[in-house]
Amino acid sequence: MSTTSSASPRGKLWPWLAISAVIVATTYQLRRQGRRWWCACRQYTPWWGDIHSSHNSQHLFDPYSFTHILHGLVFYGLLAKSTPRLSPAWRLGLATGVEALWEVIENSEAVIGRYREATVALGYHGDTVANSLGDILSCGAGFVLARRHRARAADLDS
Ligand SMILES: [Zn+2]
Repeated sequence: MSTTSSASPRGKLWPWLAISAVIVATTYQLRRQGRRWWCACRQYTPWWGDIHSSHNSQHLFDPYSFTHILHGLVFYGLLAKSTPRLSPAWRLGLATGVEALWEVIENSEAVIGRYREATVALGYHGDTVANSLGDILSCGAGFVLARRHRARAADLDS
């Protein structure tokens, strides 16, 4: 496995601190934008499989989580090409940042308002904070999956 050349143990902490900061800031911003913590149904099941229900995008994971795993796979490929000198942890940080920014924009009043008419029947008022964090987590999982897969492919080559 290749890690960055001169990263001291303390230096290796920075990307993880950055990722934590992004997650805290995203949570804060989503709350400020008026998003709920969790589905109004108050059933604390992490997964909700029916996208045609008012529970969609309100629990931690739902079928849309897979599209966010896909984002992670794509980010891995793009960043491996465009930022080869960054450590994988920093690339994961970048991917997390972009995905988090997307969640904040997607859950702003302006964007929700645009789509509200179509989804008003389902009582949609934005993703919950839990769902946005689940999406970011899924993106991270996709990134890590891509990296594992690539590492294994490289092992087979040598
Ligand atoms: Zn629910």
